[in-house]
Amino acid sequence: MVVIKTDAYNNGLEHLAKVAEFAGVDYIGITENSEVLKIRSLGIILPICRLRLASPKELSTVHSNSQLYGNVEEMVGNLNMCRFLSKLGAEQNKIINVHISLNSGRMSRDGFDMSCPGSKDSIMALLKLKNICVKGIMTHFANADTDSLEILKKLVAEFKTDAEWIISEGGLKRKDVLLHAAASSLAVRIPESHFDMVRLATITYGIKTVKEAPEGLKQILSLYTCVGQIMPFPKGNVVGYGSTCQLDRDSYLAILPFGWSNGLPRNTKYALIHGQKVKIAGRLCMNATMVDITDIHEQVKKGDQVVFIGKQGNETITIDDISESTGTPLNLVIQIDVGKLNAAARYPKKLIDK
Ligand SMILES: *Cc1c(COP(=O)(O)O)cnc(C)c1O
Repeated sequence: MVVIKTDAYNNGLEHLAKVAEFAGVDYIGITENSEVLKIRSLGIILPICRLRLASPKELSTVHSNSQLYGNVEEMVGNLNMCRFLSKLGAEQNKIINVHISLNSGRMSRDGFDMSCPGSKDSIMALLKLKNICVKGIMTHFANADTDSLEILKKLVAEFKTDAEWIISEGGLKRKDVLLHAAASSLAVRIPESHFDMVRLATITYGIKTVKEAPEGLKQILSLYTCVGQIMPFPKGNVVGYGSTCQLDRDSYLAILPFGWSNGLPRNTKYALIHGQKVKIAGRLCMNATMVDITDIHEQVKKGDQVVFIGKQGNETITIDDISESTGTPLNLVIQIDVGKLNAAARYPKKLIDK
């Protein structure tokens, strides 16, 4: 499964869903109804699975409008939700496929916790509901990147035991049930977690979350703007809101038409101009950023490309670099509306054309 929730982690769902389909993925993972519509409007008919518990409103919208949404498989974690879905299925005269979520990965977000009294009974009861069909049993890990391999293996084994119990007690056939537990970090750290399917987002987009990630991952996103204006300021001046930077020499600042509202953390440190790593002076403003180009000001012209994420000359800035230097969690580094920006996600062009 390729996970393309949140605009494919801001890489652009519209492009990447087609690339994923062409690459031969079996499943698409989403969270929002609007993402289902986008995928269907691209003509993609792959199975879609929602990766969080949906609200009743989301459920009735999707499952009462199959002609628009197609079939969407739902992750379920309590009996009430299953009853509601089965009722929707009955009204529409159809069977809704579900994936039973278990709390083996300790997210305490979506899954039945097998240590709770009543969980096993609830699962047996949902298996008897007429208009839902159990297509999968799954879990999701809270600390796949940080927990020790030993702890993770123990939880993976617990998931397997619980899933097997459901299959045998519920009279299901093993081959009819997809077991899936791993997102990116777990998939690369614990091969035993692969079961029948892995659900990958981060590493699909070329971002390393753990040191065990495969070598040669290429970050597919690049983010760049241009030099808007060039301004001279004297030694001793302070720069930007909060005056967090003081110029230690007469300086030239490149003023960029890009600020934190366009997506990067306010304390982003570096950019690339003319293949050189240059310092951002002070904090990013909402809609502007000042970059110290004193050392290279003779080469720099208005309109020159400025790279925040990606490669220029021999220098590269990765999303991990920004995460590390700003103390911002990896998945929060880019909150970009790609469509609004001079940001370009580079896709294999040939694949998109196909
Ligand atoms: C977001 C999500 C994923 C993808 O996670 P990555 O670590 O980015 O690969 C997989 N499974 C579930 C349930 C998710 O919510």
